[in-house]
This record gives sequence, structure tokens and C-alpha cells, in this order.
Amino acid sequence: MSAKIIDGKAFAATVREKVAGHVSRLKEVHGITPGLAVVLVGEDPASEVYVRNKGKQTLEAGMNSYEHKLPEDTPEADLLALVETLNDDPAVHGILVQLPLPKHIDEEKVINAIAPAKDVDGFHILNVGLLGTGQKAMVPCTPLGCLMMLRDHHGSLSGLNAVVVGRSNIVGKPMAQLLLRDSCTVTIAHSRTKDLAEVCRRADILVAAVGRPEMIPGDWVKPGATVIDVGINRIPAPEKGEGKTRLVGDVEFESAKDVAGAITPVPGGVGPMTIACLLANTVTACCRENNLPEPEGLTA
Ligand code: NDP
Repeated sequence: MSAKIIDGKAFAATVREKVAGHVSRLKEVHGITPGLAVVLVGEDPASEVYVRNKGKQTLEAGMNSYEHKLPEDTPEADLLALVETLNDDPAVHGILVQLPLPKHIDEEKVINAIAPAKDVDGFHILNVGLLGTGQKAMVPCTPLGCLMMLRDHHGSLSGLNAVVVGRSNIVGKPMAQLLLRDSCTVTIAHSRTKDLAEVCRRADILVAAVGRPEMIPGDWVKPGATVIDVGINRIPAPEKGEGKTRLVGDVEFESAKDVAGAITPVPGGVGPMTIACLLANTVTACCRENNLPEPEGLTA
């Protein structure tokens, strides 16, 4: 049996289309244009690419994009002052501070300075608490994207055994909370988990968010399970030429696809969904701010 390959690129395009539809209705009917502010401190090349893509896709969806690029040595107080200005700016519905921040800046302090209603990354402590208690929250983009793909594939997730490998605040923990909210029976595994292979083999839904290239082989996957591979790892690819690299996930795709019922590839699986969900969160934040109905199918 060969698994259905869940095409994250195509799915993200449908999410972006839905977002653009909502944006055009907000503009036409209510005269409101959602706005996303992205703040980048320093010149990390990977962060610069992310920020550029975010800005481009924000504009393509018909929203306003506000980019703030600050030098590497920006004092923490200046960054906090900018966040405060954006909190008070009615044209800005979503604020994202690109992580990681330079070492002299306290990331937690900056994240928790963002107005929770504009926290489209869903990292503010209030949003973490709201998600944990099953209330209306801004939900972190990557787990939200995984949830959308799972709901699309399964319909209801109720009663399924879900195993999330990884317990980070940005992927593993919020992913587990979302699956619990959809009535899965959830196990969170991590580096101290005993007999990880056996734990994974119990999963109807297996989410890998570890950051270790191809650490989950096909024989850890339950036959017919849905595998969501969040990992993005760059490994040497001598077959492509000297010094060349390629991206792989945390799951050994070739062996897992022969066992799983459905699987996300890397690249082209979870990755493209993350920015699409950032746009979705910005529209959601805009609707909530203006007491308008939330966009259907774009929230958790
Ligand atoms: P973190 O490094 O913050 O967390 C990794 C988690 O994996 C930790 O909880 C750690 O356990 C666990 N872990 C490490 N080694 C093992 C092991 N041998 N067995 C079991 N668990 C282990 O990573 P992130 O959550 O930030 O990211 C995970 C992956 O997802 C990365 O590859 C990252 O690049 C990718 N990613 C992809 C995104 C996308 O858009 N597709 C977005 C965000 C991340 P412990 O807590 O015990 O140390």
C-alpha cells in the first residue's frame, strides 16, 4: 500500500484563496483592510527570506503589509517601544516579531508585550493559556496548519490516538492542545520518552516535530496512520554534486509512505501551510477586532 501524499503546497493555496476572499469582502462591505506588521531585528539570512515571503504573500492576499527592519544592535527598549506603537495602531491587526531575536533581547518580554488580540503567532502567554483552557485564542501558525490538513483528511478526529513527538512551545505543545480539543487521545513524546518506537506504533495520527533528520523509520508507523512531518532538516546530498544539500523531515519518507495511510512530504507538506495560517490569523484578528463573524474554516 502506498500512502496518500498530502499536498501542503496545494492546500496552502486554497487557504490563501479563502483568505483573499474574506479580505475582499472586508474591504467591499466594511471598508476595512486587514494589516500585518512584521518586525525583523538584525540580518539573519533565513529570517530575511521568511520576512520577505510573508510580506509578499500578505500583499497578494489583498492585505496591508508593514515591514520594520531594525539593526542588530537595537536596544530592547526601542523594540518594546515599536511594539507599543504597533499595538496602538488601528491599521495593524496582526503583529509578528521574527524569531530568533539577537541575544541581548529578552524574547519572552517582547512576545508578551504584543497585544494578545494582535498576537498572530499565538505565542503570548495569554493566548497559550486560552488555548490550554479551550477558549478562543490566537493559535500558533504551524500547528494550526497541521490541524487544518488533518481535519481535511479525516473529517472528525474524535477518538483517534494521536502521538506528538516534540514538546516545544511553538509546535509540540500547541499541537497536542489542538488535537485534545478535537477529542483525540493525545500522547506527547520527547527526548526522555521510553520506547519511542512502541509509542509511535500506537498512533492513528503521528506528528513529528523534533528537528532530527529521518529519525522516525517506516516500521515505527502504524499501518494506515496519518503522518504529519513538521521537521525541516538540511542534510548533505552528494548525489546532487559536491557541497550540495537537500531538505528532509523527521520521518523517513520512503519507508513511511509504504505503511502510512497518508503522509506530508518535506518539502511541500507542513512548510507552506505556516505562512498561509499567518494570513488566516491576521484576518481572524481583524474580524475579532471589528466584532465581525470569524472567517469559516480558517480558525481552530
Ligand atoms: P525544538 O528543538 O524546540 O524541540 C524539539 C523537540 O524534540 C523537543 O521537545 C525535544 O525533546 C524533542 N526531541 C529531541 N530529540 C528527540 C529524540 N531523540 N526523541 C524524541 N524527541 C526528541 O524544535 P521545534 O519544535 O522548534 O521544531 C521542530 C522541527 O520542526 C524542526 O525541524 C523545525 O525546523 C521544524 N519546524 C518547522 C516549521 C514549519 O513551518 N514547517 C515551523 C517550526 C518548526 P526535549 O524537550 O526532551 O528536549
